Amino acid sequence: MDALRKIDIKYIKGIGPQRAELLEKELGLRSAYDLVHHFPNTYIDRSNFYKISDFHGEMPSVMIRGRFISFTIQGEGAKTRLVGLFTDGTSNIEVIWFQKIQQLKTAYRPMVDYVLFGKPQEFRGSWSMVHPEVDTIEHAATMQGLRGVYPMTEKLRNRGITSRIIYGWVQNVLNVAGRVFSDPLPPQVIEKHHLMPLTQAIHSIHNPANLQEMQAAQLRLKFEELFYIQVDMLRRTRKRKSVLVGLRFPKIGDWFNRFYRECLPFELTNAQKRVVKEIRADVNTGRQMNRLVQGDVGSGKTLVALLSMLIALDNGAQACLMAPTEILAQQHYETISKLVAPIGVNVKLLTGSTRKKARTQIHEQLMDGSLQILIGTHAVIEDNVEFKNLGFVVIDEQHRFGVEQRAKLWRKSEIPPHVLVMTATPIPRTLAMTVYGDLDVSVIDELPPGRKPVTTVMRYDEQREALYQFVYKQLELGRQIYIVYPLIEESEKTDLLSLQEGYEMICQTFPNHKVAFVHGRMKPAEKDFQMGLFARHEADLLVATTVIEVGVNVPNASVMIIENAERFGLSQLHQLRGRVGRGADQSFCVLMTKYKLAKETKERLHLMTQTTDGFVIAEADMKMRGPGDIEGTMQSGLPFELHIANLATDGQIIQMARDTAEQLLDLDPDLQLPQHQPLARAIAQTLVRTRDWSRIS
Ligand code: ADP
Ligand code: MG
Repeated sequence: MDALRKIDIKYIKGIGPQRAELLEKELGLRSAYDLVHHFPNTYIDRSNFYKISDFHGEMPSVMIRGRFISFTIQGEGAKTRLVGLFTDGTSNIEVIWFQKIQQLKTAYRPMVDYVLFGKPQEFRGSWSMVHPEVDTIEHAATMQGLRGVYPMTEKLRNRGITSRIIYGWVQNVLNVAGRVFSDPLPPQVIEKHHLMPLTQAIHSIHNPANLQEMQAAQLRLKFEELFYIQVDMLRRTRKRKSVLVGLRFPKIGDWFNRFYRECLPFELTNAQKRVVKEIRADVNTGRQMNRLVQGDVGSGKTLVALLSMLIALDNGAQACLMAPTEILAQQHYETISKLVAPIGVNVKLLTGSTRKKARTQIHEQLMDGSLQILIGTHAVIEDNVEFKNLGFVVIDEQHRFGVEQRAKLWRKSEIPPHVLVMTATPIPRTLAMTVYGDLDVSVIDELPPGRKPVTTVMRYDEQREALYQFVYKQLELGRQIYIVYPLIEESEKTDLLSLQEGYEMICQTFPNHKVAFVHGRMKPAEKDFQMGLFARHEADLLVATTVIEVGVNVPNASVMIIENAERFGLSQLHQLRGRVGRGADQSFCVLMTKYKLAKETKERLHLMTQTTDGFVIAEADMKMRGPGDIEGTMQSGLPFELHIANLATDGQIIQMARDTAEQLLDLDPDLQLPQHQPLARAIAQTLVRTRDWSRIS
């Protein structure tokens, strides 16, 4: 295997420098090793033909059989193409080539049956296939078993690279490399789980004779991939826990106790109590805490954060809470300073717009230790902000912070402060086990009593009239309304236009009410001003884009209208819906769509009307969209690459890999044993990732 990593793909027979460059750019393939690890993502049965008349929607690559009726050359210059009209008796498609036009024009004979393999594409009601593979019936009949379909891009297809060609290159490597790959997995692991040996798995994944063989090869390779991640992650977690010293907070003192007795506005939920207990135990171990608290919107994370910070105060340390936006920092500051006012904790707010004088005072008080809790935006991690004794850091809505920013905070104290990360994005278990595998996770899985679940409905444009009447009644009751428009790319002109139109329409429909207006292209100061109007109830309606998604708390708002709801992902809809239902009264979420929707879209939105459980929604979202896409969870995608495993569907294999990794590390915590050297090497070579990520995230 090691030798294959050193072979540049341009030296593989049939590739060459130009294609090598393209392959690297399009698929990230650099070495022979990468190429044999470029696995098919689907398989098709070679005996199964599609009918052209059955083509519809987004089509996978398919096989069809039939005859060419005619060939014509169309277009000019770079756009010159050969177009073959092909029929299978049920309907026709156009077969298009951009290359080797003269040669191909005479290569295929009319009235002879051919088998085509390619991806059908629809344009204005007619179907075409670009650069399909073409075989005679006789030749096609000699191939048996399943054939792999390799991940492909539009560009590669247009340059004439087909799945078959990639297959050929892979075979070239396999032939040259011989059939023996040394297997990095320890023999006892292979035996215990009856895994296919590596050599066979690599061969079978590219050439499976049947379904069973394909599945066994996939299992082996998925396991290997996930196992590396688990071993690596657990190993570093164990190390961190055993080596990294942390501040020890043994005391529960006056700050905590007095707050608990005198200021707590309500009984904590059992979930809140449990999580506070978990944090208390953590900070008393003498090791640095790295804990993720997941709690659905409205589950009361702020209070948990505050109680934890008071423990730090009781032990003579300072605490800091960081929020992703100015408005959120402001809200946290207001909530928290009000809560602790009776016991006189010194709390201050530091954001980009804090005035010089106040800022100087904050800097001084941080240095002399009299400032106990600092709340702010990333202004708090600027280099000139120094603490006397920072012991506890809370990061709210963690996904909005980059790894680097978190690392900065971490370095603000000699002994790293305890870190509590709070997120409202429910992270499915499998994802938590891999991405956050080395964090301790607490879950606030209970909402405060008396909350009424938000009633969610789907409505069409045609029903707007009735909707506005309903909104009017809510306004009469003194409630506030959100209206959200999609603006996926904040630069998209048409979106901005529809947002603007929406705003004007709302102003006209509700002339006696004040309407605030926010979108991502505004200057931050203007944005905060508009948000502030709504937060202070100086505006009754807020027309906005998803900039309001995170954390804003306006308990008086009772209706969330989401325009073009079909354009949002489930998790995002859930986040938006979480902006209402924060008070005791019944709240509503209205999903506005066009009348005609694709079936999957309808199902997706329907799910929103059926459940308010963030975890159910997150799981469904991940299944539908794939884990790399989960909004808000990780903006820059996963911290490692997965070639074959799928976090959404391979939960069982992840569990198996994790258990096996634990057992292995019990035996050999540092991978020192000689029989584990191939494994240690494979892990180091396979996992390209930022080291800092796991320490702080
Ligand atoms: P989130 O988890 O979304 O950050 P917050 O901390 O903003 O939630 O809490 C949401 C609302 O619930 C706040 O108005 C808060 O005062 C209230 N709340 C928090 N804990 C409780 C509780 N134990 N009982 C009643 N209300 C609570
Ligand atoms: Mg919050």
